[in-house]
Amino acid sequence: MTQTQNIISADSWTVIPPDVAFKEIDRSGFLHRGTGIPIEIRPFFQISDMVKGERRNIVLQFEGTPYEAYFSTTGSVERATPQARLFWMKDFTLVIQNAYPDHYSFYENAEDKKAKPYGLEIPNLYLQKDQETPGLYIVSFDDPRLAQAVEETDEADYQRRVQSKKNVKIREDKPKNKPDPSFKKGRKSWDRDENTGAEAMAKAEYRCEMDANHLTFISRKTGQNFVEAHHLIPISLQDQFDYSLDVTANIVSLCPNCHKKIHHARYEDQEQMITLLYQQRKDRLRTCGIEMDMQRLFHIYKSL
Ligand SMILES: [Zn+2]
Ligand SMILES: [Zn+2]
Repeated sequence: MTQTQNIISADSWTVIPPDVAFKEIDRSGFLHRGTGIPIEIRPFFQISDMVKGERRNIVLQFEGTPYEAYFSTTGSVERATPQARLFWMKDFTLVIQNAYPDHYSFYENAEDKKAKPYGLEIPNLYLQKDQETPGLYIVSFDDPRLAQAVEETDEADYQRRVQSKKNVKIREDKPKNKPDPSFKKGRKSWDRDENTGAEAMAKAEYRCEMDANHLTFISRKTGQNFVEAHHLIPISLQDQFDYSLDVTANIVSLCPNCHKKIHHARYEDQEQMITLLYQQRKDRLRTCGIEMDMQRLFHIYKSL
């Protein structure tokens, strides 16, 4: 699988369509607050139409914290196209300096401005466009496409942990305190507790909640019909809620086929599933302090 035909590189920038761009962090990235945006890279940021003297604000979000930044254009009258630069504030320069202290001290002490830090790899700054908010970029020092792989591994690990629980105690619905996030590869994430997942499946009597007739096979671990745990409201949205999303009220038991379907089917088919599951869960969610309306849930799945 190669998708190299659309990759655009210019100077220290590379764009990987549709939503990722990265830049080598060189001397100016460590010591100054800005970097030039070559003309080939501007369409990615939708700034090809900027005129001289214009400024456009954006937000760089790192580990859940927003940092103000902006594009600005300068240029002499002789130049047909203005020069574009991306500027950030001192707070984000500190983020870069703290992430790579050895590089920073090298550049700070190097007398030759062209010198490269011998023996140190040049780091990259990745910017991923947020799908919902224009002008918001999730930044990290690791490739966000690898973060996707990490997410998939986490999911497999979670399902394996859920399967390994037997003799699960079933408790009543009640609000649960919101957990603290952890940071993986510069991204906020929330751990999911296998006991709660196992409890949700036991509560559903190990049936697929889309259709109780979806029998699969007997699990070696649980001795029951094999089902998987799915968070109806994705755990990645925990920040937007006052109480934990990792509660049985928000975890549905699905056969592997329905589970794949709710993640990967075309939107019309997802919407049918969400409608049914939402109707079954809305009151229980409210009992757990989680307010959600169906339109918002549709919107969430549309943007996944
Ligand atoms: Zn799922
Ligand atoms: Zn099913």
